Amino acid sequence: MERTFVMVKPDGVQRGLVGEIIARLERKGLKLVALKMVRVSEELARRHYAAHEGKPFFPGLIRFITSAPVVAMVWEGREAVAVVRNLLGPTDGAKAAPGTIRGDLANDIGFNLVHGSDSVESARREIDLWFRQDELLDWENHREAWLYDRG
Ligand code: UDP
Repeated sequence: MERTFVMVKPDGVQRGLVGEIIARLERKGLKLVALKMVRVSEELARRHYAAHEGKPFFPGLIRFITSAPVVAMVWEGREAVAVVRNLLGPTDGAKAAPGTIRGDLANDIGFNLVHGSDSVESARREIDLWFRQDELLDWENHREAWLYDRG
């Protein structure tokens, strides 16, 4: 099973979409293994988005992420990184297809509601950055017997 880091960004919290976003991930069958609300420091924001340092949108992105609380989560499932990225849709909400979270609920490239790790390596780095080991819960999800055909 794979784990991925998901964050409901300040616009998602402000617009009251935390429950909607969590519900979509739950309905897909992903398992929630960690969750907390965080007021993001500038240092954490810069470390999280280090790959974008120097890009024109970077200062605005750091301002945005630190402007209101976010909800940080870890979700687990088969190919969880790709499954979450598909559920989110492409970065620009205005261009994202209906049916995706961004396509249905966002209209902007910056204010796009939610972050999901873009690779297994990024997921590992981001989970380590945002969570202590003892915040990641190991629990048996009984739904999985009816979610994955294990033959
Ligand atoms: N972003 C932005 N302007 C851009 C590109 C990205 O404000 O032109 C923001 C947006 O919030 C995006 C984040 O920077 O989610 C990280 O960009 P990335 O290309 O990694 O997109 P993602 O993986 O979040 O779809």
